[in-house]
Amino acid sequence: MNKRGILIVLSGPSGCGKGTVLAEFFKSHPETFYSISATTRSPRVGEQDGVHYYFYTKDAFESLIEKGGMLEYAVYCDHYYGTPKAPVFAELEKGHDVILEIEVQGAFQVKQRVPEAVMVFIAPPSLQELRLRLEGRQTDSQEVIEKRLAAAKKEIEWASKYEYLIINDQVTLAKQRLETIISAEKLRVSQMKEEINEVLKNA
Ligand code: ADP
Ligand code: 5GP
Repeated sequence: MNKRGILIVLSGPSGCGKGTVLAEFFKSHPETFYSISATTRSPRVGEQDGVHYYFYTKDAFESLIEKGGMLEYAVYCDHYYGTPKAPVFAELEKGHDVILEIEVQGAFQVKQRVPEAVMVFIAPPSLQELRLRLEGRQTDSQEVIEKRLAAAKKEIEWASKYEYLIINDQVTLAKQRLETIISAEKLRVSQMKEEINEVLKNA
């Protein structure tokens, strides 16, 4: 029987580099499942429906909420974002680790529903660097960037409520820190009941 996978909840302000770090991570961990979120915001240049997000209308999103199809959802910078529930539990049951890349309000909804979820916060080295990254990405208007920076300050205050903190100073180091966290979580006694039984076999 497969061991159940680990549910990793990753949050951090927009522009801190979550997508970049995860892209590096998935190159060496293709078996880990990235939960594709639903959102009502418009696709950015290069974003594809069903790959980066499921892009929904407000009505379609609200209908999914009503049907109980969301593990969590939140409004962030005037748009809905949410995690479709079924694929997450299906993958965990198959023994695959699952990563949710979601903002703070949604993250704590997940922790409430799945207490063993591993809460990881990614932060930029500074707010000045976050502004440079948001501007350098060239995907958002100045108005949107200001909104995201204002949201970032509030989000970073939540970091101390998480279980792990990754400072994304360098992408390779940040990816290694994420790997270290997952490795440590797999060594928890609660994850190793079969191994303990194996050790005691023939005692
Ligand atoms: P998020 O997914 O958190 O919104 P992105 O992954 O889109 O952030 O990264 C925002 C911008 O910052 C991108 O242009 C990306 O290339 C850049 N970036 C990400 N990580 C780093 C880093 N460690 N050092 C410098 N630039 C980075
Ligand atoms: P972006 O518009 O930059 O892609 O995402 C904005 C914010 O929404 C980020 O902090 C991102 O982590 C968060 N987000 C993405 N998907 C979800 C989701 O399914 N649920 C919640 N609660 N937040 C999400």
